[in-house]
Amino acid sequence: MADSIQEVRADVHEVKSVAQTTCCVVGGGPAGAVLALLLARKGVPVVLLEAHMDFDRNFRGDTIHPSIMNIMDELGLADRLLQIRHAELRTATLQTAQGPLQFVNLSRLKTRYPYITVMAQSQFLEFITGEAKQYPNFQLIMGAQVDELIEKDGLVQGVRYRGQDGWYDIYAALVVGADGRFSRLRRLCNFKPITTSPPMDVLWFRLSRKDSDQEEGLLGRFGRKARLVLINRFDYWQIGYVISKGGYQKVRSAGLETLRESITEAAPEFADRVGELQDWKQISVLSVESDRLPRWYRPGLLLIGDAAHVMSPVGGVGINYAIQDAVVTANLITDKLKNGTVQTKDLAKIQRRRELPTRIIQRLQTFLQENVLVNVLNTEELITVPLPFRLLTKIPIVRDIPACMMAFGPFPVHLKK
Ligand SMILES: Cc1cc2nc3c(=O)[nH]c(=O)nc-3n(C[C@H](O)[C@H](O)[C@H](O)COP(=O)(O)OP(=O)(O)OC[C@H]3O[C@@H](n4cnc5c(N)ncnc54)[C@H](O)[C@@H]3O)c2cc1C
Repeated sequence: MADSIQEVRADVHEVKSVAQTTCCVVGGGPAGAVLALLLARKGVPVVLLEAHMDFDRNFRGDTIHPSIMNIMDELGLADRLLQIRHAELRTATLQTAQGPLQFVNLSRLKTRYPYITVMAQSQFLEFITGEAKQYPNFQLIMGAQVDELIEKDGLVQGVRYRGQDGWYDIYAALVVGADGRFSRLRRLCNFKPITTSPPMDVLWFRLSRKDSDQEEGLLGRFGRKARLVLINRFDYWQIGYVISKGGYQKVRSAGLETLRESITEAAPEFADRVGELQDWKQISVLSVESDRLPRWYRPGLLLIGDAAHVMSPVGGVGINYAIQDAVVTANLITDKLKNGTVQTKDLAKIQRRRELPTRIIQRLQTFLQENVLVNVLNTEELITVPLPFRLLTKIPIVRDIPACMMAFGPFPVHLKK
């Protein structure tokens, strides 16, 4: 057991053991894992609780944006991270009625990493937690499902989790909920989110990959009937098939053959393997949601990442924002955690720093969803882009604006020295 944890009591009311730490992070996704590493490297005792036994999850994004690579660089980890198998994405192109339109090109960005790194998220998380394990004040507990808050007089003092063989309590000076879009901690706090409803759902399935296929990490295919996102997971293609909100029953009643035809029409390269889809059980339906909490904290507890603001997949920035939340949190409270002086106003400051960028990007996502995506999903025609807009995308400095937004967000975040 790590130095940070001392067994102080055992077997009380069916709880097998009670432990004490300084920061208890709930959820080993990008936000929680990075926060735990940042605190551990500065000597803060930290326990990271992850409900699953591994990091391998089907519904995960695999992108690491330039802003995060810069942070990895500041940590001295970028070169080793890039030794893990990955692909690089430098441009984004839309298939329009007038031909292909490249609307994002990251190559011109002033950074060592002018591309989106596409890497299995499980490997990224194993890398980050592997780094954290070097510090004796860090402890990772897998298979630890947090179920209750431990509270006294309105102050959160810790959590109770179900482990492999029973219940455990951990007391902490601060609990950070980084438990994602179905956050249990958010519900336990009774925080009500402000929701927006993206006009889409996603069918999520795999098709096999051949050595002769394109090497790119992420591709988009816009046909007349299907809008596909193709994620290169090297051994297979992870496909996101975007449909109108609530449209699954319609797709299903049209039949598997119609689905297969629409995939082939958008991505002819899959004609030789679309037959792999033989059963609806191979296809998961992801209900796309987006929301944010008016308040991200209460005494003794802070929520970050998707737990504080579920991001729409438009632009693929959820991981980026989750990690930026973690960095800002570490920047603002590491010293205070060490001194034992964290106050609720410090948690409020973290929300203030991160709320504006989150609101800006969610507004932008809503705008794109309501003005572009909804039109694309409601027609079988390829999208027509007005000439002035096409011309604007030819001007490099104009084209750099969406690239910059995608890569760094409105307020880039750096690690405090
Ligand atoms: C299908 C899909 C594709 C996506 N694609 C992209 C993409 O390409 N790029 C991108 O940037 N974003 C993408 N996103 C969004 C992105 O995955 C999220 O925004 C991001 O993962 C949020 O990180 P997080 O650490 O806040 O939460 P999560 O990644 O959700 O991590 C939360 C962790 O908490 C754990 N947990 C949950 N409850 C408990 C509990 N009670 N106790 C202990 N642990 C718990 C979970 O097991 C999980 O490991 C995608 C999302 C989906 C659903």
